Amino acid sequence: MSTGSTLAGVLRSTTLDALRSIRIHDAIVIGAGAAGGLAAQLLSEAGLRVLVLNAGNRQSPLRSPIRWMTGQIMRQLSDPSILKFIPPPIAYKARGPLKVLARRRQPIQSQCYAWERAPEAFVDDVDCPYTTPPDRPFIWFRSRQLGGRMTIPGHGRQYYRFSVDDFAPRDGLSPAWPVRPGELDPWYAMVERRLRLTGARENSPWVPDSELSSVVSPTPPEANLSAAINSRWPGAAVLLGRHAAPPDALEQASLTGRLLVRQGAIAREIEVDDSGKVQGVLWIDQESGTEVRTMAPLVFACASALESTRLLLLSRSPRNPQGIGAGSGTLGRFLMDHVMIKAEGIGPELLAGAQPEEGRCLYLPRFDRRTHTSPVGQRGFGVQIYQFPAVARSSYFIAVAFAEMLPRATNCVALNPSRRDAWGIPALHIDCDFGIEEYAQAAEQVAAMRELAEVAKVEIVRIDKTPPPPGSANHECGTARMGNNAATSILDPYNQCWDARGLYVTDSSCFPSQGSQNPTLTILALTARACDYAVRHYRADHN
Ligand SMILES: Cc1cc2nc3c(=O)[nH]c(=O)nc-3n(C[C@H](O)[C@H](O)[C@H](O)COP(=O)(O)OP(=O)(O)OC[C@H]3O[C@@H](n4cnc5c(N)ncnc54)[C@H](O)[C@@H]3O)c2cc1C
Repeated sequence: MSTGSTLAGVLRSTTLDALRSIRIHDAIVIGAGAAGGLAAQLLSEAGLRVLVLNAGNRQSPLRSPIRWMTGQIMRQLSDPSILKFIPPPIAYKARGPLKVLARRRQPIQSQCYAWERAPEAFVDDVDCPYTTPPDRPFIWFRSRQLGGRMTIPGHGRQYYRFSVDDFAPRDGLSPAWPVRPGELDPWYAMVERRLRLTGARENSPWVPDSELSSVVSPTPPEANLSAAINSRWPGAAVLLGRHAAPPDALEQASLTGRLLVRQGAIAREIEVDDSGKVQGVLWIDQESGTEVRTMAPLVFACASALESTRLLLLSRSPRNPQGIGAGSGTLGRFLMDHVMIKAEGIGPELLAGAQPEEGRCLYLPRFDRRTHTSPVGQRGFGVQIYQFPAVARSSYFIAVAFAEMLPRATNCVALNPSRRDAWGIPALHIDCDFGIEEYAQAAEQVAAMRELAEVAKVEIVRIDKTPPPPGSANHECGTARMGNNAATSILDPYNQCWDARGLYVTDSSCFPSQGSQNPTLTILALTARACDYAVRHYRADHN
């Protein structure tokens, strides 16, 4: 993330000495990604004095010079505009050996398609380990930079609302969200305005319309492909992808004059008093290696789904001997990630006006419904299609299908008693796999991608025949779900921990189910609603 001048000043002034001189903050936000950035912005705009603790990436050209150098070359080779000069298969192959050289410290992160454009935006896997059973891999992509994963170059930038059916699935295979129909609409609208979303008004039954700052029409190539898809499947919804540039939430929060941001601050425990109220956060300062205790009556855990759950598991006390929320028996459970199938290929030359801005695509929500209804146990999938001009009057075609995964108690995370990260904090053990329903769904996704390629007159050069392991879609969620009942959920309907009043968890760990849409818009809407609720209660308690 580029750091604006006000934020740069805030980062400089948030020294350890400055923090030690403050007895208590109004609020602490853990994590500076999508959720944490917005929480910091909304809480500080509401008048609270906010401290953001962000883990930070411990990487530099000096620490890993080979990776840095190969990263620079790969960045050029993976830029879509290079495809106008180098045939796509050659650009793809050229990146292979470079990847091998660069991946010694990032064997997991280098499996992300966007890693090639910015290896330094991802964590160092040696410093940040986790374990899985040998036969149940999970791919956990992580970024600890300011801005989190949303500001990684090559991020998809796709933002879609959940529908009423996504919040209250009718098949009974997962609990309804503790959200009334339409209740999130104003919060979606608020974050869409802040994102300055681009797209079109579509009136689709699968994805409610968004509040758009810029309404666009299809380009000639988009109109062409749309028409071809609809002539094959008249019932298929073909939308223009809704996208936005990365937000500058922390810069905006800095302008309030009420923000402090400490980089390299790794939260390791959230403290709760004997009455069940949050007290503050214990964290490790990377720079000095010291442990610091910081107090606040409001804490927002926004460290991303699995990191926030890891923190809840780490936060043990006589009141919560197995971690905050563990008494419900559901902490760490119901991990999900989209079943992802990707196809790439070479297509015909695109009509004029074809160089799209980043994030521009066609979106086919619930493409499984183009011909039939999904079998029981399958929640369906959507497809995002990207096309770029390529050499020799050709085009490059990328299609990605995301299918919903069912929440299962057996897909879970726990602390590994014998593995620690570079700061001595217990690592996560992640035990997760797709079920037969997801594998059956994936076979349909593969068939759909082949059909779409045929309709687009694309020759496929690479296609997933089976889904990559869970985690690969980057849409991991669940493990600290919200609900109406403290006996079966970790968070109340406003994302506040039943077991720790004043502690809010607003990243996707709270999702009881995941829809087939990309998750971040819903993370942001929930964060906005939780901030509003928390501020109202904070004011009532402090006036
Ligand atoms: C390449 C790529 C493309 C994607 N495309 C899309 C897309 O098109 N649409 C979409 O909706 N989603 C997409 N996603 C997923 C999306 O980026 C995530 O859903 C979103 O960023 C999650 O936001 P977050 O704030 O919960 O977590 P993150 O963005 O992961 O941020 C978490 C923050 O917490 C900090 N942190 C972690 N642990 C600690 C700790 N112990 N102490 C202090 N700080 C800590 C980290 O430093 C980090 O800054 C994509 C992801 C990737 C990687």
